[in-house]
Amino acid sequence: MEIIFLGTGTSQGVPMIAHDPGDACDLTDRRNWRTRSSAHILMGKTAVQVDAAPEFRLQCLWNDVRRVDHFILTHGHADHIMGMDDLRRFIDLRDGEALPVYGTEEGLERVRAIYPYAIRTRPEFKGYPAFVPEVMPSALAVDGGRIRSTLLPHGRIEVLGLVFEENGSGRRLAYYTDCRELTEEAYRLADGADLLVLDALRPHPHPTHMTVDEAVATAKKVGARRTFFTHMTFMVDHERANRALPEGMAFAYDGLRVRL
Ligand SMILES: [Zn+2]
Ligand SMILES: [Zn+2]
Repeated sequence: MEIIFLGTGTSQGVPMIAHDPGDACDLTDRRNWRTRSSAHILMGKTAVQVDAAPEFRLQCLWNDVRRVDHFILTHGHADHIMGMDDLRRFIDLRDGEALPVYGTEEGLERVRAIYPYAIRTRPEFKGYPAFVPEVMPSALAVDGGRIRSTLLPHGRIEVLGLVFEENGSGRRLAYYTDCRELTEEAYRLADGADLLVLDALRPHPHPTHMTVDEAVATAKKVGARRTFFTHMTFMVDHERANRALPEGMAFAYDGLRVRL
């Protein structure tokens, strides 16, 4: 199994207009240039795309993403959904066969509202996208493995937490972005995971995300072999913040590939 972190950022804040410039990350470090969060996961030969950030097209070019077999939308917020039209290139590769879009009821409602022209089994014109919305089941079997899902609290809505289990190797990866905390079920599903990916927005509290300290405490409780944090604002300087993390934990950055 392999995860490519296509994007590890958020829509919140811009460093050069920060209230306190001392808070901002060092923009001479490329790892602080974060596009919005999305991830590409390979299980065997199967390519699963999780979310499509506004920069999805560029993320695919930068990371040599050539195929999407399955698409899962964690939730309907703009930073995760606004790149979905660019899935068209992968639908074209499927000879125009619609791509199932797995999500929550909330997420799928947003997909229908933003992309009404794409809700069909074949594209309206060649090269256009075509999506078939499907509520994500608690376990989805795909070639190469299985994807379990659970709901995580994110303010007024819930977000899909995903646990990938690869056939053969038995490796397990939990991907929990955009959450205020984990539920008992989320802890149970991630128990014994080889890799945990967790929301760590910024140092100070936020009503719908975890702070860095909260994410570290949560990661300790999960106890995965390795943890990477994602969905950071400009207030997290990669080099400085990474040094302060316990062993086995690190901040992800755009373009990072982790094999497990
Ligand atoms: Zn969100
Ligand atoms: Zn987000």
